[in-house]
Parts: sequence; structure tokens; C-alpha cells
Amino acid sequence: MTIDLRSDTVTRPTPKMMEAILNAQVGDDVYKEDPSANRLEEKLAEMFGMDTALFFPTGSMANQAAIKMHTQPGEQLIADKWAHVYNYEGGGVSFNSGVSCKLVAGDRGMITANQVKESINPPDFYHSPLTSLVCLENTTNKGGGACYDFAEIEKIRNVCDNHNLGLHLDGARIWNALVATKQNPKDYGRVFDTISVCLSKGLGVPIGSVLIGKKEIMTKAMRVRKVLGGGMRQIGFMAAAGMYALDNHIERMAEDHKRASEIAEMLVKQSFIESVEPTETNIVIFYLAKGTSEKRFMEYLLQNNIKISSMGQGKLRIVTHLDYTSEMHEKFLDVLSSASLG
Ligand SMILES: *Cc1c(COP(=O)(O)O)cnc(C)c1O
Repeated sequence: MTIDLRSDTVTRPTPKMMEAILNAQVGDDVYKEDPSANRLEEKLAEMFGMDTALFFPTGSMANQAAIKMHTQPGEQLIADKWAHVYNYEGGGVSFNSGVSCKLVAGDRGMITANQVKESINPPDFYHSPLTSLVCLENTTNKGGGACYDFAEIEKIRNVCDNHNLGLHLDGARIWNALVATKQNPKDYGRVFDTISVCLSKGLGVPIGSVLIGKKEIMTKAMRVRKVLGGGMRQIGFMAAAGMYALDNHIERMAEDHKRASEIAEMLVKQSFIESVEPTETNIVIFYLAKGTSEKRFMEYLLQNNIKISSMGQGKLRIVTHLDYTSEMHEKFLDVLSSASLG
């Protein structure tokens, strides 16, 4: 038994999801003739109370397409310094859109309305790039699965309205935020112009993300997706898996969150741990004590068939997910509590 806690992307489809995939009605989505994809897009648009939605192969592509649709070359977007769009999308913001990022030092990946306001370049000052977009992330990845306070998001929306800025949400793990905070997806649809959501993380689908948005902006979505090479054919197999997951895998994320917080509690008690970041959803970020070698800790876990992620600078990450069972959980807690790493 291998316990893989590197990411919530390592899941495989469950037997019932496989059944949904096998029974999917499909067609050529480049002609917009895939009934399952069309249904999934309608369902997600309706769930967030937005006009329209479009399936993408990856979350990165959905974010990159959104940024392209919101901006013109030479402009600037505002994001937290830990933002996925800045750190983990291969420099796509500059490569695809010719846009620069004004990075804000937020709290665990979350920024405030005041920070946004202070980061806007005056539009009549032509020496600096024109600020045109704000990108938020919820939950935050590098910030350890932290969830925004919705009131702050509403304040950011106000700032955007007052300064004519678009507002995009990187909602790769929005499901975790919705489950953890009991928020309503329609509230998100009301404040954001575009929202990307991942099917391939907590929901456990093999492939896929969806960009949901307002009509005016989304008119360009098909063309931009095509330019990025993301027009695909019989994607209904994945859309059917997505439909199944939306109906069956959202509520259960509470279980992932509970296990993550139990792991965090166990870690805090260990002498080889320096500190554990607040654990709100399915991500646990922690640091080893100064005397503990990271290599030795990782080797000890590997000997027990356990994989976790190192994020550099002594930062370690554990992510719980659909394929992390109660049996694995018990074993993992046991392995942690019996470690002697002096
Ligand atoms: C995983 C993730 C994405 C998208 O990743 P892909 O691997 O391209 O699907 C985007 N934003 C955040 C915050 C993520 O964690």
C-alpha cells in the first residue's frame, strides 16, 4: 500500500466514475457537439449563477485564457506573491498575454482590498503599465489551503468596480473553500467576472477544468482556447466523470479536511516539527525542527511507502484526497507518532 499525499491530483477514477465515463454520450466538442460537455458547462454556469462556461484540459490553461481575455499586452495584473498564475504556470502571463504582475505580500496567499487599491497604477500616468485585472486564489495553494473571508472578496470587487478592473478567481480548489466555509457558489458568481474550477483535484476526475464567466468576457473564450491548443474532441468522457463528481464528491471533501486537521494535530505534538501552519482545508504545510534533516525525514516516510511534497526552504506539504482512505490515515498517523528522528 502506497500512501501518496503529494497532491490531490494523484487520484484515480472510482469504479462508479469509470461507469459514468464508459456510458458517456460524446461528440466532437470543437463543433460544440459533445452533449456531455455541453451539459457539464451548463450545470456549472447555473451552479455559480453565471452566463456561460467552457471546458479546458487544465487549470493552468483556463487561468491563462482568462488572463488573455481580460487584458491587452503591456498591461498589468495584481496578484499575491504566492499566486499559482505567477509561480506555477511557466511564465504564461508574460508568454501568452504580454502582461506583467504586480505582486502583493498577502497573508498565506490572500490579499486585501486595501492592498489591491494601493497596487493600482494611476490610469493617466502613462509611464507605468495600465492595471487591468486582479487575480485571487481560493483556496490558496502555496498558502496551505487557506480560505478567503467572503466579505474581503466583496470589498475587492468594489475596488475593481471603482477602478475599472476585471476580477478573476483561480478556483482550482474552490470546492474545498465552499465545503469548509459553507459559502454559496452563486455569491462567487455574483462578484467575479471569471472563475476557473478544477475537476482534477478534490473532485477526483482524471482530466479537466472549467472556466465560468460573464457573457461579455467569455465571447472570446473559444478562440483563446483554440489558440492555446486546447480545443479537444470527445471530451464528454471527462465531462461525464465531472458530472458524476459534482453529484457525489463535493460533500465528502469534509472528510479530507478532517483528516488533514488530524494530521496537523499529530504533527504539532512531534519533537521533530518546528511548526505547522493553520489547517483549514485539505492542505497541511509544516516545517521540520532545526536539528531534523529533511532528507532523513523523507527517507523514513518512503521506507513506510509514504510520499509527501517538499516545497523548498524547509517547507513540507501534505494534501489529503479521495484516494486517501481511513486505513491509510491510521497508518500514517501511526508512522508519524512513532518516528524517532533526533
Ligand atoms: C492545481 C492548480 C491550478 C491548475 O493546475 P493544472 O495542473 O494546470 O490543472 C491552478 N491554480 C491552483 C491554485 C492550483 O492549485
